[in-house]
Amino acid sequence: SNNLMAGKRGLIMGLANDKSIAWGIARQLADAGAELAFSFQGDALKKRVEPLAAQLGSDIVLPCDVGDEASIDALFAGLAERWDNIDFIVHAIGFSDKNELRGRYVDTSRGNFALSMDISVYSFTAVVQRAEKMMKNGGSCLTLTYYGAEKVMPHYNVMGVAKAALEASVKYLAEDLGKDGIRVNAISAGPIKTLAASGIGDFRYIMKWNEYNSPLRRNVTIDEVGKSALFLLSDLGSGTTGENLHVDAGYHVVGMKAVDAPDI
Ligand code: NAD
Repeated sequence: SNNLMAGKRGLIMGLANDKSIAWGIARQLADAGAELAFSFQGDALKKRVEPLAAQLGSDIVLPCDVGDEASIDALFAGLAERWDNIDFIVHAIGFSDKNELRGRYVDTSRGNFALSMDISVYSFTAVVQRAEKMMKNGGSCLTLTYYGAEKVMPHYNVMGVAKAALEASVKYLAEDLGKDGIRVNAISAGPIKTLAASGIGDFRYIMKWNEYNSPLRRNVTIDEVGKSALFLLSDLGSGTTGENLHVDAGYHVVGMKAVDAPDI
């Protein structure tokens, strides 16, 4: 435990269960003294998110479907009833039709392309737009991305294209909001077994490949993503904005299969 986030308040979006990357981040932030609010998508998740929030001392748990502008406005109106200022937001949200997270990218439909971009890309901008107004003393915004934005990864398909757009939007948002002391960054996490990841074809194979071929020869945990999030969201990251911080056991620097990698 440390005091890096003492006196800071922020919103965590994208908590579904205790496997979620948002949970790894929330735990590190709470441990560092942050006060947290949570949003959840749909009634089914409410009963999962409320007890997790309570574990971290939070009773601010609000619904939000980021595909709906009115729902985002209602979230921030609800938040403003409890807090007049926030210091950070975490956006750990992505969505695509899992039928298009296998096979060929070229077969992506117009409808799922638009939906994936809307939920996985625009929603971050939409949320930052509202958060800016509550960040009166500056702030820090964080989203989650994946290496499939930079290089072609099997089955990632339209999500790779969406994450590339998300990473570009981090840079534009960083420029727009930097003058007001608001930083905007992404973490590019290595593969982690979560609900969202289970929709991706051959995900077990991808995890094995990362384990055998990353410089650290293992996968990363949600707690490790959480620790890097703590850096970016706390004063430790005060000089960093527009960044895409890889928390992937170093996989992104590797050019070919490791000579000691077993066959899989
Ligand atoms: P997760 O399933 O635990 O979280 C995904 C969340 O997105 C869920 O809480 C879900 O409710 C939310 N969501 C989806 N559509 C929504 C909508 N319309 N409105 C509001 N919320 C919505 O999975 P996760 O792996 O923790 O995903 C979090 C983020 O991390 C995603 O952006 C994902 O792409 C990214 N990421 C995951 C991995 C991985 O391997 N798991 C790697 C790199 C990046």
